[in-house]
Amino acid sequence: MTGSTKYIFVTGGVTSSLGKGIISASLAKLLQARGFTVTIQKLDPYINVDPGTLNPYEHGECYVTEDGAETDLDLGHYERFLDVPTSQANNVTTGRIYQNVIRKEREGEYLGKTVQVIPHITDEIKRHIQALGRKGIYDFVITEVGGTVGDIESLPYLESIRQLRWEKGKDCLVVHLTLLPFLHTTGELKTKPTQHSVKELLSLGVQPDVLVCRTEHPMQKGMKEKIALFCNVDATAVIESRDADTIYDVPLMMQEERLDEVVLRRLGITTFPDADLTQWNDFLHRYKNPIAETRIALVGKYVELKDAYKSIKEALEHAGATNECKVHIHWVHSEKLTAKNVSRLLGTANGILVAPGFGHRGIEGKIEAIRFARENGIPFLGICLGMQCAVIEFGRNVLGLPKANSTEMAADTPDPVIAMMEEQKQVTEKGGTMRLGAYPCQLQEGTLAARIYRRKQVSERHRHRYEFNNAYLEPYRKAGMVASGINPQGKLVEIVEVPAHPWFVGVQFHPEYRSTVAKPHPLFVHFVKAAMSRSRSTTTPNVEKAAKA
Ligand code: GLN
Repeated sequence: MTGSTKYIFVTGGVTSSLGKGIISASLAKLLQARGFTVTIQKLDPYINVDPGTLNPYEHGECYVTEDGAETDLDLGHYERFLDVPTSQANNVTTGRIYQNVIRKEREGEYLGKTVQVIPHITDEIKRHIQALGRKGIYDFVITEVGGTVGDIESLPYLESIRQLRWEKGKDCLVVHLTLLPFLHTTGELKTKPTQHSVKELLSLGVQPDVLVCRTEHPMQKGMKEKIALFCNVDATAVIESRDADTIYDVPLMMQEERLDEVVLRRLGITTFPDADLTQWNDFLHRYKNPIAETRIALVGKYVELKDAYKSIKEALEHAGATNECKVHIHWVHSEKLTAKNVSRLLGTANGILVAPGFGHRGIEGKIEAIRFARENGIPFLGICLGMQCAVIEFGRNVLGLPKANSTEMAADTPDPVIAMMEEQKQVTEKGGTMRLGAYPCQLQEGTLAARIYRRKQVSERHRHRYEFNNAYLEPYRKAGMVASGINPQGKLVEIVEVPAHPWFVGVQFHPEYRSTVAKPHPLFVHFVKAAMSRSRSTTTPNVEKAAKA
């Protein structure tokens, strides 16, 4: 597209958790399918500099970008939908904005001036919003504003949007996502909360151009016109967004409602190519018409909150679609797993995935799950802490080192099979100081890892402080656990596997961050495939039925 970058803002009203991230990603997908270049960024109104120091119970998973930024989980949706990497610049928090402004103040950049929310904080926000646009590679920059209109924390962001609209005129557009609650007593959808939410935005000087209305039921006749009249928007710009079976349906539902066309026209773009969603539709077809099914146990300590393992869940879904297989995820709390109940809790699993994590809680349950997978030939995938636990389990139960441990859990263990990385020992600050982002990994010829990736070298994203202790490499190899992936520079072990087992892989990195709809991750694809062969060999009537269908 020739001309200047267009800025689209996505705000939320009425309640949180309406799915701004999915709507933003769906709009981006539709624009991308028409041949435009798009990126999405998230503005988060909290004071943490990034979500890296947050407990997953607060905001779910922390997503890591190629360049090592610890970011909001919505960036995962952006990458999974668009298959375009995001970066540090795609997630900004109030903490980062203030940190920058205060640093500049100390450096004397504002000498003589009183530093204030307006203009200094809002200028810094505007600078961040436009940083991606200035690269000159994007036709559209979509900016999702975290929180709900009316929150005190969001005010500087909305003020920045007001200013940008004033400055950029036709190159800016605001999409407001609201909720139409359904009253069971009268059997009606209600528009009043949407009207109030738009009023709140108007009181801040921001007129939305498009309203996306989340609803459980179809909108009644005349409702779009009514909302349009009360909220000063075109009736065609009132978009119905029904609850979907899967988030991957949302782009198509938005296409049916012509969200992308409305946006393009409002931004003054009147000629544009048709959308090519062939690949997306092909994925959805395989996702929705499985010919097999399998059961994967996901063992972690945050399983009450599925968002803590968002990317893993989605990567399993992508892998399921590739294999035309319905993946049933069986969430297992690692703190509840013991040697006594492990066969009852994991006995029906066709594959066992042990999740990443930090700290001691739930560790022994993870180790039990791994022992069960190893001893019973059940396909096993361990991610980050899951891989470290596999190393500990192997040390204890195969090498005969009963106290083998990670120094994260037991600083004084006589067998520190997992130990802190050398460069981490000097680190005192917690935020942004782990081994973060993409690092190369060389695959050893003839190993399962090499067969899965079909490459000599790969690059994967990391987020950890501890590593396999190379002093134990040789005894482990002799006992049957080999290092099949090594970082060529630091010689850090990135992948371990047990060749005598049907499928046993532990990875120090996070493959889940790189799985997208367009490119499901090979490790997950093969893991699901291995679980499927296990389901076939331990056939249940259900699986038989599905296979015949
Ligand atoms: N706690 C472990 C470490 O820091 C593993 C981290 C993770 O699972 N992301 O090395």
